Amino acid sequence: MGLRTLEEYVSSLQDDRAVYILGEKVEDVTTDPMLEIGVKTAGIDYRMGEMDDFRDLATVTTDSGEAISRYYYVPKDSEDLLKRHELMVTATRLGGGVIPFTKDVGSDAMNAVSIVANIMGKSEYLERAEEYRRHLQKNDLSVACAMTDVKGDRGKHPSSPEQAHPDYYVRVVDRDDKGIVVRGAKVHITAAPYCNEILVLPCRNLSQADADYAVSFAVDAGAEGVVQICHPMDRGPGALEFPVDMPWRMHTDSLIIFDDVFVPWERVFLCGEYDAALHLVYNFAYIHRHTAASYRIPMSEAMLGMAYAIAKYNGVLRYAHVRKKLVEIMIYVDTLKSMANASCINAVVHGGLPIPNPKLSNIAKYHFANNYHNCVKALQDIAGGIVVTGPTYKDYMNPEEKPYIDKYLGGTADVSTEDRLRMLQLIRRVFASDLGGYSEILALHAEGSLAAQELMVFGESLAEAEEYQKMAEMAAGIQVDTPPTLPEYEKVYKALREMRD
Ligand SMILES: Cc1cc2nc3c(=O)[nH]c(=O)nc-3n(C[C@H](O)[C@H](O)[C@H](O)COP(=O)(O)OP(=O)(O)OC[C@H]3O[C@@H](n4cnc5c(N)ncnc54)[C@H](O)[C@@H]3O)c2cc1C
Repeated sequence: MGLRTLEEYVSSLQDDRAVYILGEKVEDVTTDPMLEIGVKTAGIDYRMGEMDDFRDLATVTTDSGEAISRYYYVPKDSEDLLKRHELMVTATRLGGGVIPFTKDVGSDAMNAVSIVANIMGKSEYLERAEEYRRHLQKNDLSVACAMTDVKGDRGKHPSSPEQAHPDYYVRVVDRDDKGIVVRGAKVHITAAPYCNEILVLPCRNLSQADADYAVSFAVDAGAEGVVQICHPMDRGPGALEFPVDMPWRMHTDSLIIFDDVFVPWERVFLCGEYDAALHLVYNFAYIHRHTAASYRIPMSEAMLGMAYAIAKYNGVLRYAHVRKKLVEIMIYVDTLKSMANASCINAVVHGGLPIPNPKLSNIAKYHFANNYHNCVKALQDIAGGIVVTGPTYKDYMNPEEKPYIDKYLGGTADVSTEDRLRMLQLIRRVFASDLGGYSEILALHAEGSLAAQELMVFGESLAEAEEYQKMAEMAAGIQVDTPPTLPEYEKVYKALREMRD
């Protein structure tokens, strides 16, 4: 089949999948008033493949002459990773700060599955991973990655008898010569209601007692026993807000219940190998944190754009403390960009696949998440209290109120009151609303909580820290007998010893 059109993607979702939102079963996700926004957001990936300006970025022609989505192409080097990075950033800019999320995250998971199949060296897993990648390439499918289990008591292992029941983590409950039956639930799964497939990964390290929970597989989103419960999503400016002639993009994240779902062996990528679960978790996290850093770039650019605009509109751009706050956001944006780029340039090879540098990707994601609230604070401070106390569009359209609003809610003379109110409305919508709260939680938790990145940065920095310790000890005049382990320190260490002698 090869590349699909946007229309083909949309019609592929018109099946009898079990999706619920606001207490009702959804008849058709493509026409549901909320979910259709998600379908359009995910559809950007397909639209890009149809547009002359973006086709080369969104697609790759393989050596055999077949055009496939760039997401399902196996990266060969840093250049390929940078192109993929550019694709994610561009797609997110087209989504007004929201990434399509249906091939990027799915291919992150696909690549992690390939890496771990390679590390394990089991031929059946290698063949299945390869076959699954072909399936995604040939049919140009959208794939959600379901990693986060509902977990129950976070302090207990999945199989612990102290968990209230054994299904807080997805597990294998039956198997025969045709496949396995899985039970459990994954939570917060972005875009899954309008994906074709769900690729499931374990979400933590597992012990031998947890072997049934060491399971990775892919299923059709409409498979029997797969039930999704979605949270409502922001539908863009409503009747009380100034109309905006730009498309509104957003996603839902669903609770996916696997109610004894059958999975054929061809789609099983891990089953019982508890000691490989952490490899899968880590390799997905390494890759996906770079994806996260990439799609946060347009979001942070938008934040800077709003802060800068409202500083001008309010006539406060020249004040030192306002500039300091803008500089804070400027540094935030460019540090994120640099780190995301650097992680592609300093790629490493895992299980035969080049991936963005794990340490730098984690630092990029941590930087974004850990500083997001401070940047929001800077923007809110610059914008003023009117962000939350301003009149509505309805008031502005009332001829009795409009002259007052025009006269008293202006800013600098070169900006109309309406434009100022429009910018304030955008700031309110993105940073001081339900959506604003959602985005703050998203920054902290999506792609793993801060502690998860701290853990990885610590682990990935240890070899260097050991080396720095030796240098510090030498500088302190402490006898250092162990030679360096990192090649770049070998000559320096030798030379320093010689110079000292
Ligand atoms: C908007 C959004 C979109 C998301 N999209 C996806 C998606 O598409 N696919 C997907 O698989 N996941 C997705 N996630 C899930 C995301 O990865 C998790 O939210 C994140 O890993 C935190 O898990 P949790 O929400 O269950 O929080 P919790 O596990 O309850 O964590 C809360 C706090 O407890 C700490 N904690 C929890 N367990 C432990 C422990 N054992 N030891 C020490 N500290 C612990 C955490 O570090 C954190 O500080 C999404 C999340 C959000 C918010």
